[in-house]
Amino acid sequence: MRDFEAKRMKLAGGSPTVTLNAKGIKMKEEGIDVLSFAAGEPDFDTPEAVKAAAIEAIRQNDTHYTSAAGTIALRRRIVRKLREENGIEATEDGIIVTPGAKLALYAAMLCFLEEGDECMVLTPAYPSYRSGILMAGATYVPVPLSLDEGFVVTRAKLEAKVTARTKMLIVCNPCNPTGHVLGEQEIRDIADFAAAHDLLLISDEIYEKLIYDGRKHRSLAAIPEIRDRVITLNGLSKSAAMTGWRIGYSASSPALAKVMLKMQQNTVNCAAAFTQTASITAFDCAEEAEQMRLSYLERRDLICDGLNAIPGITCPRAEGAFYAFFRVDYKGMSSEELADYMLEKSGILAVPGTAFGEGGEKCIRLSFAASKYALEEAVWRLRELFA
Ligand code: PMP
Repeated sequence: MRDFEAKRMKLAGGSPTVTLNAKGIKMKEEGIDVLSFAAGEPDFDTPEAVKAAAIEAIRQNDTHYTSAAGTIALRRRIVRKLREENGIEATEDGIIVTPGAKLALYAAMLCFLEEGDECMVLTPAYPSYRSGILMAGATYVPVPLSLDEGFVVTRAKLEAKVTARTKMLIVCNPCNPTGHVLGEQEIRDIADFAAAHDLLLISDEIYEKLIYDGRKHRSLAAIPEIRDRVITLNGLSKSAAMTGWRIGYSASSPALAKVMLKMQQNTVNCAAAFTQTASITAFDCAEEAEQMRLSYLERRDLICDGLNAIPGITCPRAEGAFYAFFRVDYKGMSSEELADYMLEKSGILAVPGTAFGEGGEKCIRLSFAASKYALEEAVWRLRELFA
């Protein structure tokens, strides 16, 4: 038989984080002692009120197709959320509810990128950005940021990578995997840069609720001069511990949403009806969200303090999200070698920094959405391993 795989899938590859997480599950099933910190998933239950709303929605036969963009009730709630919490003036015809933010991301790339286009990505970055760009046939252009500089982006770094073919820039704020939260100057620089080069901006804000030490989340689309060139991505996976519900959304100008809606109509049709209805309740679960944030904060300190006490490890304190992204200077090992070594010798499964692209050399990403026991045990085992 011939090789049926399309070139785009060869280029895209699998998701390293999803693949590694599956490896951890399999090892546990085989009875191997492994502590897995590879997944990007909250370790909380979905709020009770959301579960109750979903059960009631099923009872009410909320089990059919909805309009492709999502129910009007949910889109209205999203519009209100964006106005009240983000300072974004969206309208219902600018919102598309998708089965997970991941699909909104993929739709944005397929709808607006094509062969000959270049798409810039601040790296280290969520691996699906690169895959999506390549699946769309465009060229991936990393803008490497550095751990020693706190992963701060500057106008000069952006200018160094732009060409006449650059069409899009993808920003993740707060950032998976680095935990960096964009400051006011960075937001300004990105906005001015996008306007100066007539670019489309994807602003992935899925971790907006997980932000620490009094920092403030700033949405790019809240800046009036660039709002029509920003596609904001968000969802309930991280903020309401709803990964398995598959609810995400894009917010953009109605003109951009109209294009993305074609993708939705021709692929998934809509997100599941009763999960959309239940999601409206999730936007009112601020108390639960805050409890989760405080719990992550405590665990961030536990893991960062523990790791920083080990010689050779530099672990910046995550400003947002729930990942420790740290560098290990040990016998000149690469990030892949370090991840393999940690798994083999200590039973600790974490993601090599280079899985997130340029800037991740010698680094490891470890999710602290794990039990305190597991995190303490990880620190103990890593001290034994590297000290
Ligand atoms: N963006 C980022 C940066 C993420 O980490 C994730 C989840 N790992 C997503 C988007 C997608 O989230 P979901 O599809 O569950 O809404």
